[in-house]
Amino acid sequence: MSNLVIAIDGPAGAGKSTVAKRVARELGLSFLDTGAMYRALALKAVRAGFQPNDGELIGKMGESTDIRFGTGDPQPVYLDGEDVTSLIRTPEIGEMASAISAHTPVRRVLATRQQHIVAGGNVTLEGRDTTTVIAPNAQVKVFLTASLEERTRRRYEELKAKGENVDFAQLKEMIAERDHRDSTRIDSPLRVADDATRIETDDLSVDEVVAQIKALAAQSATI
Ligand code: C5P
Repeated sequence: MSNLVIAIDGPAGAGKSTVAKRVARELGLSFLDTGAMYRALALKAVRAGFQPNDGELIGKMGESTDIRFGTGDPQPVYLDGEDVTSLIRTPEIGEMASAISAHTPVRRVLATRQQHIVAGGNVTLEGRDTTTVIAPNAQVKVFLTASLEERTRRRYEELKAKGENVDFAQLKEMIAERDHRDSTRIDSPLRVADDATRIETDDLSVDEVVAQIKALAAQSATI
């Protein structure tokens, strides 16, 4: 399967990262976590004292910002050479990432880099716009989703396991709000691409979802 590209789209907490990482590993593809790039730039913006609405300035800053990935699980993320892997995973940085990702100058600078990586092929990428904007020609396009309750439960367990003190109801509200913001933004809103395969994951294990995506990849290779 040379130059295989698998794009996994969907809302917060649908399991995109977990599934995409597994698919990448099992098929020997590299893994591109597009959300981590928004998070890294969000961290830099917070540190620089920018407000969520400073889209123009943050986009400009993005042009001279170096964001790189290492290998491992969790996949290391480097912001201008600094390891920010865990610093970008807080709910606050998630909020800032969501807010700044609504601005065209921010999307443009990160999307260009992501498209460049995808052009190299042999990659599984995940994020909200990967099937519609970043890799619309991917051989496999999946829209992963689950109910708000289930997605909140997963995020809650994930944060608790990291020792974060989170309130379930508050987290649910934050996720609903982020869904709304990601779906209603003008530039690259979260939506299901016409030719994407929609997978509802409420009652599926990670193994089952991974198996379905691998089956789609195998199918695409025979077309
Ligand atoms: O997926 P993750 O939660 O790490 O993404 C953080 C935020 O970045 C999301 O809430 C979303 O608003 C934004 N994002 C985006 N486009 C992507 C990936 C992430 O707008 N391809």
